[in-house]
Amino acid sequence: MSVTVVGSIAFDAVKTPFGERKKMLGGAAVHFALAASFFDDVRVVGPVGDDFGEAELDVLRRRGVDVSDVERVAGGETFFWAGEYGWDLNSRETLETRLGVFADFEPKLSAAARESEVLFLANIQPDLQRAVREQCTGAQFAALDSMNLWIDIARDSLVQTIATVDCLVLNDAELKQLTSKPNMVRAAREVLSWGPPGPRAIIAKQGEYGAALVTADGFFSLPAFPLEDVVDPTGAGDTFAGGFVGYIAAHRGDAADEQLLRRAMAYGTALASFNVEEFGTERVERLTGDEIAERVGELERVTHFSDAEPVALRD
Ligand code: AMP
Repeated sequence: MSVTVVGSIAFDAVKTPFGERKKMLGGAAVHFALAASFFDDVRVVGPVGDDFGEAELDVLRRRGVDVSDVERVAGGETFFWAGEYGWDLNSRETLETRLGVFADFEPKLSAAARESEVLFLANIQPDLQRAVREQCTGAQFAALDSMNLWIDIARDSLVQTIATVDCLVLNDAELKQLTSKPNMVRAAREVLSWGPPGPRAIIAKQGEYGAALVTADGFFSLPAFPLEDVVDPTGAGDTFAGGFVGYIAAHRGDAADEQLLRRAMAYGTALASFNVEEFGTERVERLTGDEIAERVGELERVTHFSDAEPVALRD
């Protein structure tokens, strides 16, 4: 029983107001896998080049992540992304994206990966996401993340792929861009109508403001954990997804109802808050289950609405 994730396995160059890393382990699938590994067995699917060493794979292996579906392409270069953040970390500019081995990647999943009950299609070209989705016939819960680049250059394929998953996780602004709707709730409701069968849960990520969950009959919003020191937001969305999907995977067999999805959001929020405390995967690599549990408890305390009585209102 396991969670399978396909998505970028990368080297990132990141500059924030608090420092810089010229080449560090990154990629959507890596951030997701590290976070989800606190909940269930995780398998990563994707290619890397010769430049990707055992030391990088060991980061995943140390968290028990199965890397046997990571394909090393002889003569190839690992996916590379470079980005720079503005002064309050809310804006980010992509300086460079080199697809490298992802340009010719044709996913061929092992039997174990194909049999996973839970699937996460992390950010990568939507045709590749769909090729994986089609192979994972046993998946009971599939979620997908994407980004503005693919909405710009491969929207039709992305829409087709979204229709094959249960849950879409997307940045607020990207959800609006995808649907051409200037309102997040309307945009989410539009995607809920895609199918058949189409997604039944939409998560709109709102960066430092948290995330919202929209379902056919529900709405829930959770702020981000109130951190004072954020160093590098890279991978926060994927780490959120790892906590969210990981929690759902740990409850396989239970219906992914509103209550389950809401608590899954709390785990995603807690995991993401650790990720941004240091560069890349540095903080999550040495995270413990106790620290996560403590932060989920703290989040529950901070977000408790109120014990105060309602007031009598004047007409
Ligand atoms: P996030 O901060 O959640 O948007 O995720 C950042 C991660 O996504 C980085 O580690 C990058 O390696 C990866 N990434 C950036 N651009 C792309 C892209 N076009 N396709 C796939 N992964 C990407």
